[in-house]
Amino acid sequence: MRIDVLTLFPGMFVGPLDESIIQRARKTGLLDLRIHNLRDFTHDRHKTVDDRPFGGGPGMLLKPEPIFEAVEHLADERTRVVLLSPAGRVFRQAIASELAICAHLLLVSGAYEGFDERVREQLADDELSIGDYVLTNGALPAMVVIDAVTRLIPGALGKDESVVDESFSRGLLEYPQYTRPAEFRGLQVPEVLLSGHHAEIAKWRAEQAQRRTRERRPDLPTGPVAGGAVT
Ligand code: SAM
Repeated sequence: MRIDVLTLFPGMFVGPLDESIIQRARKTGLLDLRIHNLRDFTHDRHKTVDDRPFGGGPGMLLKPEPIFEAVEHLADERTRVVLLSPAGRVFRQAIASELAICAHLLLVSGAYEGFDERVREQLADDELSIGDYVLTNGALPAMVVIDAVTRLIPGALGKDESVVDESFSRGLLEYPQYTRPAEFRGLQVPEVLLSGHHAEIAKWRAEQAQRRTRERRPDLPTGPVAGGAVT
């Protein structure tokens, strides 16, 4: 998969995307990640990317010309152009799965007061928000999307890592997990997990996932408890 990012802050991408699973995906060629500086698509001496909003108001807006030029240069018919914006649809695991099957993503990361509306109208296939808060620019949101999408590319996770049985993969939060020792500072691992009884363990996990989801995220739909549904 190829992901291009258009940003005013390419330096922010150095480090977070050079570690762990993302680094491995890049090294093995599963992810071809290219970061582009929006200023490289300007033509004036000052590399101007912003201007004052018509009608007045505080702050500066990203001008359409460099963004149009960059997108026209980087995108082709298979590209999904995604704007990062607090006004977008809220990014969720289901959207990450949708994006993970795209051949090419172009993430357009904003700054200042955001984009000239014509960028939205003419260039964007999608507009994503990573949550109901405002960050200073779109670099962190772009990295969040890259991370969530990359780990869903087939082969990106190692054999001991799985996307099948984790929070949101089946719409629920993950059930509680434990590792050795079975007793730690007087705290016991639930008996059922030590029983070796796979059907009982699956039933317990399904119930726990349902309960946890109902308690912590009443906004998420939880169906009837079905033994084995979560494992
Ligand atoms: N004036 C804009 C508004 O009220 O919606 C906020 C602009 S914000 C300071 C600058 C840029 O950061 C945005 O254009 C966007 O690219 C990015 N950004 C900030 N918060 C975001 C969020 N929650 N999700 C996605 N992108 C965000």
